Amino acid sequence: MSFSVSSSYEKLRSIVDITPNDALPSPAALLKAANSLPTTIPSKGLGEAATEAHLLSDIVPGFNGPKTSSNYYGFVTGGVLPIAEVADNIVTAFDQNVSVHLPDQSISTVVEDKASSMLAELLDLSAGWNGRVFTTGATGSNILGLACGREAVISNRLRDAGITDSVGELGVLTACMKAGVKEVQVLTTMCHSSLYKAASVVGLGRVSVKELPFSSDEPWRMDIGMLESELQRSEKGVVSIISISAGEVNSGLFAVNELELMQKIRRLADRYGAWLHVDAAFGFFARALPDTDEFKALRSKGLGIELADSITGDCHKMLNVPYDCGFFFTRSVDILNSVFQNPNAAYLAADPSSIPSPLNIGLENSRRFRALPVYAVLLAYGRDHFAEVFARQVRLARRVAKFLHESKGYELLPKSALSPEAVFRGTHIIVIFRARDDTINAELVKRINATRKMCVSGTKWDGKPACRIAVSTWRVDVERDSNLVQEVLKSVLKEKE
Ligand SMILES: *Cc1c(COP(=O)(O)O)cnc(C)c1O
Repeated sequence: MSFSVSSSYEKLRSIVDITPNDALPSPAALLKAANSLPTTIPSKGLGEAATEAHLLSDIVPGFNGPKTSSNYYGFVTGGVLPIAEVADNIVTAFDQNVSVHLPDQSISTVVEDKASSMLAELLDLSAGWNGRVFTTGATGSNILGLACGREAVISNRLRDAGITDSVGELGVLTACMKAGVKEVQVLTTMCHSSLYKAASVVGLGRVSVKELPFSSDEPWRMDIGMLESELQRSEKGVVSIISISAGEVNSGLFAVNELELMQKIRRLADRYGAWLHVDAAFGFFARALPDTDEFKALRSKGLGIELADSITGDCHKMLNVPYDCGFFFTRSVDILNSVFQNPNAAYLAADPSSIPSPLNIGLENSRRFRALPVYAVLLAYGRDHFAEVFARQVRLARRVAKFLHESKGYELLPKSALSPEAVFRGTHIIVIFRARDDTINAELVKRINATRKMCVSGTKWDGKPACRIAVSTWRVDVERDSNLVQEVLKSVLKEKE
């Protein structure tokens, strides 16, 4: 697809001193930026023109390239599609506060609702997912997920005890005491670190998060037997929220990768009164890949996400809209209302049949119109173009995985009993690996990033350092980028130790 809108990034690039395709700024640019900062607030301002010049010539060259370089593989950051940037500039220019649904005053809540319903269509969610909120990101969405889970699982017990008040009303402590709940646990495998943060924020505590690994070889997979025995603790006053990692941030692998297993987990959740949450920040988008043999195995891993009670997703990753933009889906608006209602503001009361006011179903009151870039990209590029963008990302990741598997100097992780072909067919957008030589491996990330041609992030796997490539930008060109990645990876092995 060719683009007809010119983004301000293209304009800025023509006037600022950056090497457009570098994934990282030079140390000199970083130093220059740091030295350009004022020591204190000026009593008389610099004025707008001088400040703009400072921003462009000092600060901007000190930025990294996750959104602008094709070869930034450090985190799952995505890029910014041209129309998304145009929309985001419109958001700033018109500064709508998408807080209360006031359709005779602004179309913004209606557009936001349309954006989230089109997003649900892109991700193949059937009708009925009426609780839809744009958040600041997957961390925000995981907080919503655990807050809703907490609300539901404790309220079930309150109702059993004949109490109609909600947790939102009573607070966790009182609600648990009245309901005879002794413990709330979050059952997961290799979850994103933000789930621990979410557990702390919603008052469950980081220790409530429990890992249920299938085996030491496949720690990302959920052990369904262990899950059931944890859920059986419900007899002793323990209530549970299940959080499925789809996929895991280091490897891209899914905790549950078959529809039948997901159905089984759904039945267990129903039997034991647990809430089923899926953190599908980027894995969700596997469902929007082309429906062809090439992606069949991968698409099937995303099956069953729709059986959840709530789902976390990110738009600022693979959907390539600017920060910050995540989403949260749940079937029930009531549960969101129960947690997030902004009470005692009669003028805010909404007609239940209409679009709910965002301030009653999410964390913030005043909110940025972050849905507009989502609306714009879905409208501008459509389902087919996104399928093609996602396909290119996966193809690049698979090429890199194949190169690593065949190279003598590197080891593709995790070690797998599957055939290489099956491994490649299951590869999504993340590739994790290490250098076979321990000395090189210890400084592999540093060596790769020192080239500035691409950026990767370091992590640990099996307790040893590992390196991770995450492909998430729309700028992917499979041939060009796989050549560059291979060149860099070959060159860093040859460096003198
Ligand atoms: C990125 C990510 C998060 C955190 O998302 P933010 O957008 O950075 O808040 C949570 N879970 C998973 C699986 C992720 O990939």
